[in-house]
Amino acid sequence: MTTTGAATPPPSGHGLALAEVTRRLNAWLQIDLDALEANARRLAAAVAPAEVIAVVKANAYGAGIEGVAPALAAAGVPAFAVVWVEEGLALRRILPHHRILVLGHTHPELAAEAVAANLTLSVDSLELARAISCASAASEQPTPVHIHIDSGLHRDGLAPSDALALAQAIAELPGIALEGLSTHMANADELDDSFSSDQAAAFAQVCDALTTAAYVHAANSATALRRPGLRLSGVRIGLAMHGILPENTDLDGLRPILSVHARLARVSRIRAGEGVSYGLTWRASGPAEVGLVPVGYADGWKRALSRGGAVLVGGRPAPVIGRIMMDQFVVDVTGLKAAAADEVVLLGPQGDDRIDAWSVAETAGTIAWDITASLTSRLARVYHRGGIVERVVRGSHAT
Ligand SMILES: *Cc1c(COP(=O)(O)O)cnc(C)c1O
Repeated sequence: MTTTGAATPPPSGHGLALAEVTRRLNAWLQIDLDALEANARRLAAAVAPAEVIAVVKANAYGAGIEGVAPALAAAGVPAFAVVWVEEGLALRRILPHHRILVLGHTHPELAAEAVAANLTLSVDSLELARAISCASAASEQPTPVHIHIDSGLHRDGLAPSDALALAQAIAELPGIALEGLSTHMANADELDDSFSSDQAAAFAQVCDALTTAAYVHAANSATALRRPGLRLSGVRIGLAMHGILPENTDLDGLRPILSVHARLARVSRIRAGEGVSYGLTWRASGPAEVGLVPVGYADGWKRALSRGGAVLVGGRPAPVIGRIMMDQFVVDVTGLKAAAADEVVLLGPQGDDRIDAWSVAETAGTIAWDITASLTSRLARVYHRGGIVERVVRGSHAT
């Protein structure tokens, strides 16, 4: 056995302070597992007796399923949802026993693998229903499935009449049973979400016709918090779990779980009139100190943040200057006494200041979901409780 010197933290980072684990990293995400668990409990209490289905698609909205899923399970979340069957298979390796719903389209040839992994699929065709039936022919229990109803979003799901026909066909197949019905709102996050009432009425008609499907779900974060009548059996909560609320929604007691950090790769001086970054779109009006942030659009830090973006250095804002590049961008640190290796915060608190996901989204011309879900796997994910690291998922080049 080799002994690990103090200079080389163990890859897991377990039990070390954040500063020790992040010392050698260019850039990383910090995920506060205490905040995540508190959010899960707060949301569960807010929507009870409906149960929480944690939506952990897209690598848990960027926060990383390896760290997020076990913490949510520990906080008592009974069910999880993803969109792709591949996401479901990856989540099954992390959570062997929890219910996992696959919300998106599944190719019938993947049915056997999904059934073997005990994933609950959303069935959108007779071919898929037959494939599930065949795959579960040998098992004693029929495989439960859900049907997604298009109640007005016109994205995915079946029209009510097609859903009734498919339910009829499923009832006649061995090894498969209709357990659930779902739908999804078009205007959940809008100030005027009145169309949700029309969608709810269309969905209720299908539910009334298919009473064998005992588990019904229709709400995302905004619908779950704004419309108690649409909580039904379970609510599919994604964004709110991260302590970020849709702009039309209120709930006290949630805390942001995710922050984005980097270390200045260098600090240098430029002269009046000199330009910075591709196209030299920014020029110094006087002598300036500039810091190099080793994060770029390949990490999910959007190029649209070139105009109006900022980071925190020593708790004070340092504006992005010039264009954000694939792997790095430059900030103006004139007068901030910044030095190479100083920690900067792109998203989250530092000192008395804070940059929140909605303000980044507004600068980038997008929504908060897009900011966190865009963060790629080149960035390390560091999971901690009260500043003590519980797990590190190292960054990789695969995104
Ligand atoms: C992503 C998604 C959710 C979660 O939405 P949030 O607004 O993040 O809570 C719920 N349901 C479906 C069908 C989704 O695609």
